[in-house]
Amino acid sequence: AERTQPTLTRSTCCYCGVGCGVLIESEGDRITGVRGDPSHPANFGRLCTKGLTLAQTAQSLTGRALYPEMRLSRESPRQRTDWDSALDTAAERFADIVRQHGPDAVAFYVSGQLLTEDYYVFNKLAKGVIGTNNIDTNSRLCMSSSVTAYKQALGADGPPTCYEDLELADCVLFAGSNMAYAHPVLFRRLEDAKARRPATRWIVIDPRRTDTAAMADLHLQITPGSDVALFNGMLHHLIWEGLTAPAYIAAHTDGFAALKQVVRDYTPRLAAEMCGILEADLIQAAEWFGRSPASLSLYCMGLNQSAHGTDKNLALINLHLACGQIGRPGAGPFSLTGQPNAMGGREVGGMATMLAAHRDIDNAGHRAEVAHFWGVPALSGRPGTPAVAMFDALRRGEIKAIWIACTNPAHSMPDLNSVREALGKAEFVVLQEAFADTDTAAYADVLLPATTWGEKSGTVTNSERRISRVREAVPAPGETRPDWWIACEVARRLEVLLRPAQLSRFGYATPEAIFAEHRALTEGRDLDIGGLSYAMLERAGPQQWPLPAGAAQGQARRYTDGVFAHADGLARFKPTAFQPLAEPTNARYPFHLLTGRLRDQWHGMSRTGRLPQLFEHAPEPSLSMHPLDAERRGFKAGDLLKVSSKRGQLVLPLQLSDELSSGSVFAAMHWNGRFLGSGGINETSLATVDRQSFQPELKHAAVRVEAA
Ligand code: SF4
Repeated sequence: AERTQPTLTRSTCCYCGVGCGVLIESEGDRITGVRGDPSHPANFGRLCTKGLTLAQTAQSLTGRALYPEMRLSRESPRQRTDWDSALDTAAERFADIVRQHGPDAVAFYVSGQLLTEDYYVFNKLAKGVIGTNNIDTNSRLCMSSSVTAYKQALGADGPPTCYEDLELADCVLFAGSNMAYAHPVLFRRLEDAKARRPATRWIVIDPRRTDTAAMADLHLQITPGSDVALFNGMLHHLIWEGLTAPAYIAAHTDGFAALKQVVRDYTPRLAAEMCGILEADLIQAAEWFGRSPASLSLYCMGLNQSAHGTDKNLALINLHLACGQIGRPGAGPFSLTGQPNAMGGREVGGMATMLAAHRDIDNAGHRAEVAHFWGVPALSGRPGTPAVAMFDALRRGEIKAIWIACTNPAHSMPDLNSVREALGKAEFVVLQEAFADTDTAAYADVLLPATTWGEKSGTVTNSERRISRVREAVPAPGETRPDWWIACEVARRLEVLLRPAQLSRFGYATPEAIFAEHRALTEGRDLDIGGLSYAMLERAGPQQWPLPAGAAQGQARRYTDGVFAHADGLARFKPTAFQPLAEPTNARYPFHLLTGRLRDQWHGMSRTGRLPQLFEHAPEPSLSMHPLDAERRGFKAGDLLKVSSKRGQLVLPLQLSDELSSGSVFAAMHWNGRFLGSGGINETSLATVDRQSFQPELKHAAVRVEAA
């Protein structure tokens, strides 16, 4: 057969928020190789095992959704159909429900895996055409506690730091992050920095002795959920020992006196007791944090996925503000984004609690600005329904139709029995997906096949606010279409059905046209990218926001002048008090169940779960338990154990592990219905959410463990 010439395409890895640059090698319609892009400032050519195997996972069409499918009734299977029939049906059913029950009777549940351009049109479709703020995303399960805390403390969303700070910090505080597994390429950068500057101190706060914790100078193996007590205890010591920065506090912050009142109760001895650690270790952590020239904290789901996630974030930011450890090279609170484009989704306002370009739904002026820009009479001021409440409303029949794009809520949401009940009761479910064999696909009345990584173009924003291009390397397989195209097609149909006087605001020919519209909405905002274009990204490479018109490059760090994003320019101290876990253990459910990642798998494994070599590190699902707990109960390694919470159960083989404290068990989040007879560990998790961020407590549940 005639071979075509290999082509090299510059793009970005589709997995995590590190946002590594990749070079895709392709021949004809096949991706034949992927390697790290040496010129990308996130990874300088490095990739982790997931990124290195992107070519193999992209080559297989196993499990892919390749043609539109539709079913006429819940009793019949879906049948292949054509795009027009599928889109017409989906739009007509949505329009019918909106006419009968109002715009808030429908909802969109989208994904941090979508590109910024995809996200933008979905948000405009929901808020601008239908008139509902019921659009939320799986980023709600990921970063929303960080978002809420940044806004409250610093006045605006987004980390003040950049990746270069990893190399400049003298003290690195990891809080609830197994970075060695979750953000491996950034972790390599830290390891290199520590090798060059061995005096750098690493402190890891984690109830498990993870691979990250095993490399730390100090591991604080705290009782699950006790983070706020720890941070308050550290701050108490810093205040008492005169290690705070009074001049910085006076010039750049507000609320220190009230904070002092709260943390005075958290003596190091009491706080250490609450956390189950030694008082000397708490004091050591505080000393290193306060005395180091530059202290950086790196945090992730261990803080965010909690019923008190916002408080945990705020208590940590209080430490930074009190010590002036922010706005300087190597210093600052740095939330590590889980998904590749959770940040881009926030930028376009693709969530139930925000509007485009970091505007707020409850701000009438902001609503008017966006409505005017989109050419619609007004935007709804009714709050949208965040993820967990969205599926609750679907179960109760208040939301009647849901459009799910690029995510698998029947695996990733908490309390899966409730989620399955909701999807089963929904009047109409549309699933827009690259894969047809996810747990959620079983509930879809209409399945719309989407292109995926390697087949689509747009932009993503990584953890350091850096916008990178994602580029198409091979043609779309079957009848798959880009997510932005699908959203535009349904939007055009819904405009005709619902707003015939206001037509064709979705006539984009390319993702670049969508990017240009998004860019215009950011001008004058904190994330202003008025100076950024696809041409600049092509010419100068990935750029950090803000990058206003006229700027030669993006801004590496924020708040370097000590002026924060609140109207008066001052950062806010937010006093936070320790609160117990949403579901404490008890005699019937005596174990703390902790959840987390494996090194070589990604989320629901729809991509990584198809490659044998990615199972070498962890070949099968398991429940980890301390050997003493197992011995007391007569369990042996490999025994099948039933893990039950008040909500559900699953069966897993036992793995003995002294990485956990006695009284805790651990299971990875990835395994799902394709590997287990159930939806995975979220059979047991609870749907309690943080009252400020609406992020659920996915990291902890009380369980019992019995022989199966
Ligand atoms: Fe991809 Fe994240 Fe690995 Fe980089 S660290 S190669 S972005 S999965």
